[in-house]
Amino acid sequence: MDIDTADVSKAPTSQLDGSELVVVSNRQPYKFGYDETGAVTVDRPAGGLTAGLDPVVQRTGGTWVAWSDGEADDEVTNEDRRVGVPPDDPTYELDLLSLSEDEVEGYYYGYSNQVLWPMCHGGIWQTEFKERYYEVYKQVNRSFADAVIERASDGSVVWFQDYHLACAPQYVRMACPDAFLMHFWHITWPGWDTFRSLPHREAILSGLLGNDLIGFHTDRYRTNFLDCVDRALEEAAVDEEAGTVRYRDRTIAVRSFPLGVNANAIARTAELISNERRRDLAQQYGIPTSGRVALGVDRLDYTKGIPERIEALEHLWERRPKWQKELTYVQKAVESRSVIPKYQDLQDRVDESIARVNDRFGTNDWQPIIRIDEFLPRNELIGLYRLGDVMLVSALRDGMNLVAKEYVTAHVDNEGVLVLSDQTGAHDELGDDAVTINPHNAKRFAEAIEKALTMPEVEQRRRMKRLRQHVSTYDLDAWMADIFEMVARLHADLDSVVND
Ligand code: UDP
Repeated sequence: MDIDTADVSKAPTSQLDGSELVVVSNRQPYKFGYDETGAVTVDRPAGGLTAGLDPVVQRTGGTWVAWSDGEADDEVTNEDRRVGVPPDDPTYELDLLSLSEDEVEGYYYGYSNQVLWPMCHGGIWQTEFKERYYEVYKQVNRSFADAVIERASDGSVVWFQDYHLACAPQYVRMACPDAFLMHFWHITWPGWDTFRSLPHREAILSGLLGNDLIGFHTDRYRTNFLDCVDRALEEAAVDEEAGTVRYRDRTIAVRSFPLGVNANAIARTAELISNERRRDLAQQYGIPTSGRVALGVDRLDYTKGIPERIEALEHLWERRPKWQKELTYVQKAVESRSVIPKYQDLQDRVDESIARVNDRFGTNDWQPIIRIDEFLPRNELIGLYRLGDVMLVSALRDGMNLVAKEYVTAHVDNEGVLVLSDQTGAHDELGDDAVTINPHNAKRFAEAIEKALTMPEVEQRRRMKRLRQHVSTYDLDAWMADIFEMVARLHADLDSVVND
């Protein structure tokens, strides 16, 4: 079975009203590499936003500007570093930006991932404020902006993604005063008391205020952002109730749009996974089919609370020995940002704690924690979700957490329990029907895992059904439709201002 879950977005695009769409993101939606025979390969994104946006841009046509990090990019692009995609039947252009090693180090590993990422997640002690990082970040943002300016006209809709591109909108605004610019910030926006630690706070805010519309996952992040603007920028006038900022003679709308998952496609794939296939999958990874399975699926990031989760499981196996041999924990982990020392430290910590727990409780015929590091195709990941009687999401802070939504969507039989950290954006939507935890309290966390494992079936099904209903109603298509509807409304407002 090979089902591509990335191909089925039906998000309406008519609200764009013929405007050319230019999407700008750090990562590219198609990645060109080589296989062992030297032939060019094309990788599709495993999930999330690039997979969801790609069909929209396919329908509207236009351009997608992204960092060129594919090995075969030189070979597939033309002299302007552009390539038509999808490769089999091109409908839009991918415009790939080459970055030098120094630029990648300063912009991506430096300012994006050692300053903005930890700071936005509340980890001001984890930041490395180096002026050089900021200088390179601005320079690369300028290059992204230049690529946009080359393609965009005053009638274009330009959509920036995420924290890698905070300065670019203001640069584009200067060159294209009448283009419609918008930004979706995919991570948390912290409160003022955290944000004020950023040495370049005014410039980051001012860069973002080059947009016409800025979106966040939750109302809390939206309110935090407006508060930061109010306190940091004297020349900005914030209307908290209307959700607007008046800045440099323009009005910027700030809204929340909780990102969803491609629910129909995940559910369809999940329905096609037979019991036999699930058994095979369990056998392949040595997961016992007789007991219960708790599951964790994460990028190896210090915000995900993986050591805290292992500590809670250790607590459970120690204090409630009946779960030994009965409950197996499966950790699907994907390595991330490994050149950054803090990420290496985390990987060491996770390795050590898994080894310790397995050493302590493991027997000849039972391994308490099974780790899956290899890349899993999308349908196998969905199969793994279905194997999890309980899903453990213990992020210390997370803008949304799509894994929680994917798990719920995959449980088409309404079985399974979601244990969810109250520090995730997803908790704002799913908290009522999940088992809530604070990831820092190992004892309570262990109790929550036990509560999930022993929840009566009727209650389990009732909760899972409601979770699934919510996630399938507010799916990726609904998210995009909301955003494009807002674009159309703001466009209409702008037109009426111009015509008055
Ligand atoms: N993911 C994956 N393989 C893994 C771990 C994660 O394909 O081993 C995918 C997962 O299905 C989800 C995304 O990566 O679509 C993670 O999104 P999330 O919002 O949970 O966290 P992020 O990594 O963006 O912080």
